Amino acid sequence: SSLEDTLLSAIRTIPDYPKPGIMFRDITTLLGNARAFRRAIDELVHPYAGTKIDKVAGIEARGFILGGAIAHQLSSGFIPIRKKGKLPHETVRVAYSLEYGLDEMEMHKDAVAAGEKVILVDDLIATGGTADGAVRLLRQMGADIVAACFIIDLPELGGRRKLEALDVPVRTLIAFE
Ligand code: 5GP
Repeated sequence: SSLEDTLLSAIRTIPDYPKPGIMFRDITTLLGNARAFRRAIDELVHPYAGTKIDKVAGIEARGFILGGAIAHQLSSGFIPIRKKGKLPHETVRVAYSLEYGLDEMEMHKDAVAAGEKVILVDDLIATGGTADGAVRLLRQMGADIVAACFIIDLPELGGRRKLEALDVPVRTLIAFE
């Protein structure tokens, strides 16, 4: 079957999670499906095969799972971008917007060197607030962001446009209204 069918049928939708009116797209079922997991990773990386990518930066927590697999496939290093207070060494920190209010995320100061080519990874882009925070952290340290990759796009929430306006190319595999 097509990639889109494979991925769509592997993702579970949980109505009213984490609160009423939200349709949560649960990728744990995709991760548990060997074929769907491999296809998603292969499709996300294929434009960058043969390109030197120094680091893959994954956003806590689902971005760690996808980002680790992508980094392995591209023979790149991996950078965890975490909620504040979780990283043990010196960090850079940014505030980013959530649906209601602000939170902060961090990266180790020495995780990326100026000019290194980086791919940013998360499972899903909605408003783009989370990915925008990660872009600001990486660029603060001089990273050259080659692309931001997500399995799922929620196009109505505008995240892709937000990143593209910052000159970050965006790669997504499937969309939900
Ligand atoms: P944004 O900052 O783009 O508005 O929201 C994206 C962030 O929230 C990502 O880190 C993503 O993992 C999480 N997120 C928001 N909605 C969903 C959802 O329906 N399913 C999953 N798996 N993650 C979501």
